[in-house]
Amino acid sequence: MPARHAFDRRTDDILQSLEAGGQYKHLRTLQSPMGPKVKMDGFGEVLCFCSNNYLGLANHPEVVEAGIQALRDYGAGTASVRFICGTFEPHLKLEQTIAKYMGTESSYTFVSCWNATETVFPTFCEAGDVIISDELNHACIIDSMRLAVQIKKGVSKTVYKHSDLDNLEQRLIECQDNDEITGQAWVVTDGVFSMEGDIADLPGLRALCDKYDAKLVVDDSHGHGVLGETGRGTHEHLGMFGESDIGHVDIFTGTLGKALGGGAGGFIAGPKRATELTIQRGRPTLFSNALPVTVAASANKAIEILMAEPRRVQKLRDNTAMARQKITDAGFEVIESPTAICPIIVGDTAKAIAMSKRLLELGVFVIGFGYPVVPEGTARLRIQMSAAHEPEHIDALVDALKKL
Ligand SMILES: *Cc1c(COP(=O)(O)O)cnc(C)c1O
Repeated sequence: MPARHAFDRRTDDILQSLEAGGQYKHLRTLQSPMGPKVKMDGFGEVLCFCSNNYLGLANHPEVVEAGIQALRDYGAGTASVRFICGTFEPHLKLEQTIAKYMGTESSYTFVSCWNATETVFPTFCEAGDVIISDELNHACIIDSMRLAVQIKKGVSKTVYKHSDLDNLEQRLIECQDNDEITGQAWVVTDGVFSMEGDIADLPGLRALCDKYDAKLVVDDSHGHGVLGETGRGTHEHLGMFGESDIGHVDIFTGTLGKALGGGAGGFIAGPKRATELTIQRGRPTLFSNALPVTVAASANKAIEILMAEPRRVQKLRDNTAMARQKITDAGFEVIESPTAICPIIVGDTAKAIAMSKRLLELGVFVIGFGYPVVPEGTARLRIQMSAAHEPEHIDALVDALKKL
């Protein structure tokens, strides 16, 4: 097709320059369910160390069966948005399960965490509000803030240095002294930052939010199923689940597309007034369909299994500790983290990509991240552990790393 329009010409240029720069993403195709081993088109059976299937629930027989049963009971969907005729019983059941799991008064689901987070600020903010964001927050938080500022006149936003409480306090003081900021201040952070695996200092953030009357919003997508004694997330890990002297997070967003079933879906969890306002005013829920009922049923089962079997979380922790030890013993530098994310810094982007490619030839699937996803010179292999891995899988990973 000849490139006639401006879009056609510039897009062809973009794609060609990505290819020339070695940054073109070629999608790998799996021919088996997600698990510690997957079958990949062109590579056969390989060990998978780059999925967010932290608890190994993505292909758990009961999770699969729950989805099949819901498909039989309810069909494909309602062909409607939630507030017209789009709410099935499994949606309400899932929302009760999430609220119990997260320790919040209520929850409300979406087709993705992207959608859930993007609903928060445009729906909750009004003129005079300010949103204060960690500089390394996830793209969906950034877009939610941008959208809120665009569509609600008088909402403003600002950024604090990554995990820097002093810098955040400075921002809060500036907002307090600003005559135009007369409404609610919101502080927002990822629970787990996925490139390093570092976690937000939620008790420190809570204390500052209390001091300056701000609300604390946490997207804990990589924390669910991983952190805390019973896998509730970063808040449990830091003593902020259930009875707590430290206090609580005001509003969570999270994903069902990682540890909690791995299919798709996201949620807002918090006080009932927040989820009710979401139902009344959230544009992605007023104008877009619900989470498919099959996925809702699978996610509900996944969370039930997690709550009934906290040993899965312990196995994930044990696997991660074993992998970190063995990778370090093999002479690699792994960034410390309480999560199941084990980044090995290799420096150069091209080197990370080449190492990832070589690992795949050796039967190990690990993704390399380089600039611009991470700062220049800090390209890395990001190994992610799962409770589904066995010691022999970890040994095979380390053997492959040694051959690089
Ligand atoms: C993965 C992730 C998301 C996206 O979740 P989806 O449900 O796939 O949209 C959002 N926020 C954070 C912090 C994430 O890590």
